[in-house]
Amino acid sequence: METINVTRSYLPSMEEYVNEIADLWDSHWLTNMGCKHNQLQEKLKDYLLVPHCSLFGNGHMALEMALQALELPRGGEVITSPFTFASTTHAIVRNDLVPVFCDTDDKGAIDATKIEALITPKTVAIVPIHVYGNICDVYTIDALAQSYGLKVIYDAAHAFGETLDGKGIGEFGDMSMFSFHATKVFHTIEGGAITCKDEQYIARLYSIKNFGIKDAEHVIAVGANSKMNEFQAAMGLCHLRAMDQCFQKRRAVINRYCQHLEGIPGVRICLDKRDNIQSNYAYFPVCFIKELYGRSRDEVTALLAQHNIYARKYFYPLVNDFDCYKNQFDHNLTPMAKELSATVLTLPLYPDLQLKTVDFICSVLTDRTS
Ligand SMILES: *Cc1c(COP(=O)(O)O)cnc(C)c1O
Repeated sequence: METINVTRSYLPSMEEYVNEIADLWDSHWLTNMGCKHNQLQEKLKDYLLVPHCSLFGNGHMALEMALQALELPRGGEVITSPFTFASTTHAIVRNDLVPVFCDTDDKGAIDATKIEALITPKTVAIVPIHVYGNICDVYTIDALAQSYGLKVIYDAAHAFGETLDGKGIGEFGDMSMFSFHATKVFHTIEGGAITCKDEQYIARLYSIKNFGIKDAEHVIAVGANSKMNEFQAAMGLCHLRAMDQCFQKRRAVINRYCQHLEGIPGVRICLDKRDNIQSNYAYFPVCFIKELYGRSRDEVTALLAQHNIYARKYFYPLVNDFDCYKNQFDHNLTPMAKELSATVLTLPLYPDLQLKTVDFICSVLTDRTS
């Protein structure tokens, strides 16, 4: 029986990649803001419709270093949500800042109506997450931040290529972080970027990701190392050429899932379909409500696995419940995030997933006899 995983990393043809990296054998310039890196950075500004972009070795360090670049006071509170990948909360904590969890809406993005009540004199920033590519209420969040003098960094790891009212999603807030990990919609094997409107952040980030070095004789910050190398950037240049095709194929897969699953009692598709948002079709998250559907999320996961279909409980466990944060955050204070984490499953989705395979996955989900 064929194994169907939740995702499958895009690869260009071997020939295309080899062509892309061939000139590295002339230059011998392999990392430290080389030619491929600079090309990709320019192309991404156009693609993401953002004024400025800084590339990183991975998305997590991009977020961590973006927080560092803001020079927030140690112990300051950062409002964020717990329905996310470990990276978001860790980036806050590793900057000696204190996460304060706000609940989410029923599609996983932060519930912007609940943020203001959490603002205290210690609040310094907001780090909202565009979960599954479902865009947060950026207008409300950015307005709140303005009136309270807070910084905003969006975790846009899931939001590559999305637009809101025709604007690149990476131009909201002070900065946005994109992840280019192999499992993401667009990847550079490992990689990430910060996008922003304010050019001064870019200069700071350039030095922070390179040990705080400004030039040959000046080290201006306690930086670290998170530069994107030339082989990563070359993968990005190849992948970028295929993006339009990837989006189209992903959209066809999602449409097929929706045809089968929409309207089934107890099956809730957690995707935002506002028509002022250009989606990137990154994930297909579905909540299973046992009382209506007959099976719990965990039962669905096991049933699919019997057919060699490996869906992912994304995100479970909730960050509140991580061992490393034991007794620090009460998950009952974020009931929607808790409920999502207990009921959601992301189903297999990648550009080359065959529609007949989607039909098969849905037949398992709709078969009442098994
Ligand atoms: C993938 C991801 C990250 C981290 O990105 P890496 O490139 O893997 O370091 C951060 N936040 C979210 C929500 C993610 O999904």
